[in-house]
Amino acid sequence: MKRLLTLAALVAAALSPVSAQDYRILSPDGLTYLSVSLKDGRLSYSAGYRTVVQPKKKSAPKDTLDVPILLDSPLGVYTNVADFSKELTLVETQRPDAPIKHSYHLRQGKKSEMNSEENGLGLVLTTPNAKKSGVRMTVQFSVFNNNIAYRYRFLQGGEAGSIVVTGEATGFRLPTDATAFICPQSDAQIGWKRTKPSYEEYYIWDEPITTRSQYGHGWTFPCLFCIPSSGTMSSGASAAHDSWLLISETGTTGDYCGTHLSDATPDGLFTIAFPMEGENNGFGSTGAQFGLGNGQTNAYDDHAGFTPWRTLTFGSSLKPIVETTVTWDVVDQLYEPSINYQGSRNTWSWILWQDESINYDDQVQFIELAAALGWEGCLIDGGWYEHIGRAGMEKLFAYCRQKGVRPWVWYNSNGGWNDAPQCARQAMHNPIVRKQEMRWLRDGGVAGIKVDFFGGDKQETLRLYEAILSDANDYGIQVIFHGCTLPRGWERMYPNYCGSEAVLASENLYFGQAFCDMEARHATLHPFVRNAVGSMEYGGTVLQRRLHREPGKGNTRRTSDIFELATAIAFQCSGQNFALTPRNLTEQPQFEIDFMRQVPTTWDETRFIDGYPGKYIVLARRHDDRWYIAAMNAEATLKTITLDLSVLGDSVAKSLTTLLHDGADGQTPQQSPLKTDKRGRVQLTLQPQCAAIVY
Ligand code: CA
Repeated sequence: MKRLLTLAALVAAALSPVSAQDYRILSPDGLTYLSVSLKDGRLSYSAGYRTVVQPKKKSAPKDTLDVPILLDSPLGVYTNVADFSKELTLVETQRPDAPIKHSYHLRQGKKSEMNSEENGLGLVLTTPNAKKSGVRMTVQFSVFNNNIAYRYRFLQGGEAGSIVVTGEATGFRLPTDATAFICPQSDAQIGWKRTKPSYEEYYIWDEPITTRSQYGHGWTFPCLFCIPSSGTMSSGASAAHDSWLLISETGTTGDYCGTHLSDATPDGLFTIAFPMEGENNGFGSTGAQFGLGNGQTNAYDDHAGFTPWRTLTFGSSLKPIVETTVTWDVVDQLYEPSINYQGSRNTWSWILWQDESINYDDQVQFIELAAALGWEGCLIDGGWYEHIGRAGMEKLFAYCRQKGVRPWVWYNSNGGWNDAPQCARQAMHNPIVRKQEMRWLRDGGVAGIKVDFFGGDKQETLRLYEAILSDANDYGIQVIFHGCTLPRGWERMYPNYCGSEAVLASENLYFGQAFCDMEARHATLHPFVRNAVGSMEYGGTVLQRRLHREPGKGNTRRTSDIFELATAIAFQCSGQNFALTPRNLTEQPQFEIDFMRQVPTTWDETRFIDGYPGKYIVLARRHDDRWYIAAMNAEATLKTITLDLSVLGDSVAKSLTTLLHDGADGQTPQQSPLKTDKRGRVQLTLQPQCAAIVY
């Protein structure tokens, strides 16, 4: 009780400015801090967490010390009206009287019932050059337990009604001994038929933050950093453990571009980087243009004039990273769902049978496979327009209806920004054609579309994502994006949004043995990085040993069967295009098929139990009252994990009955009854690139 009181007092004290223009805000639990400073006309911020220090003398009171995560970093925006990074003066400070609560239902994600709380701060600022236009800038900060989000807002105060953003001063300064798990931004207009950038590059793993990015364009969100316990501690505190930080972006609409991080300076400063000139075939601005807020100097009133949020998630373990919900907590649902959208497991011929399978007869086989598995859908991939035709597709739609399977249909996003030949093309970029197309899809009973090959992160392209989502909702159609940008809060903003690729996905297993050799490492990285901030449409769970339509051909899968089944739990996306083929029905043990028949794609709860990026992960997810636990080992050595089921609650341990594992040889998948000791613990022995599932 005493400690609680102390924390409450800390919160109250922290909301008062230390001096006129220095602020310190604590999270509702008092353990996450944000410092903001306006000094010599420049705004900066720093952040970290508070750790309880055990005094040398046992009788002495416990103390808390700051563990800095983000060091003093710049804020500000460059616009056509003025440079809002310098000569700033404070107009007004806004503070909500009480913590702001965020309680909402999310159909698809880590959790269904979201409840979080923040302490907020809004600073309204002006600069001499902006006086004539009357435009002011607000910076809105939200401090959650283990998470900080902030965004800018531009407000009307004179004749100017709009603004053009040309860049940002916004930065993130890290201790120079921090290491990074980050993915480079590619060059524009490279790759398959000039379709990049599409967030499909290789990560650097645990490398110095000052590492130069492969293409010289910096790093795409989200970016994961490890700050060693010996890190730069200006307070003199030293953390007992390494700390972890995830930086990302959320709330991006057609009113902004998608941004990323620059390369770091030698002293550890990353800054917000804008799209490259060459993206979207060189067409469209690299900046952003939008209307101003309505002149109320209140950061909390309406939707106009905002930039996206930038988010920081951090703590002394990886748990806050894997379980973060800040991506969705700070955004709003932008329209009502037109129908009650559902999760879907889809068969997908293209992933192992490739382009040649986009024909009527092969699609019939995959519709029948979906029906045999009791799955909801079948994805008909690129090339259907030329090889099946509209009349053939209508026959397939009718066959789907007969089999109780919903079709999903692929589209090329272009437009004028790539040379990708797959059809249907020229249907999604134009609102007139797009709506005709969607009417045809709705009439055919189509559940969703997969739209591929976007042109990059310019505002021009972000507007297209939003337009496709909004139109599709009018026709009750869900949307998966491929060859695309990272989703930024879209699961909540757009209720018919389903998932995005934005990762080196399962197609690379087919394309190269080297990627197969790395599959387990990637699979145990994504829950900590890419999939921590957005639905990831990976297209996984390959059960064939060789990746080809013909037996004995193609690359060799290195992971075990149970590892592949475990990715269905570890990878979150409400629409999963799994890589099962008709052969699996007869070649796999029946219990593997049974597992895939009932594994859900939507989750009510997610708990991180243990793991390290790229090495191993133990992750539990709940759907209704059933828990599924995946334990996956990507390392080259045997791993023994004691899984304590009591961490999920006493009644949970009793509800778990089944263990799937790979056998002592790592090659003989087995199903056994789950046996725990008296304390609800079970010992899992994981061979290299193997896994166990408890459910
Ligand atoms: Ca791709």
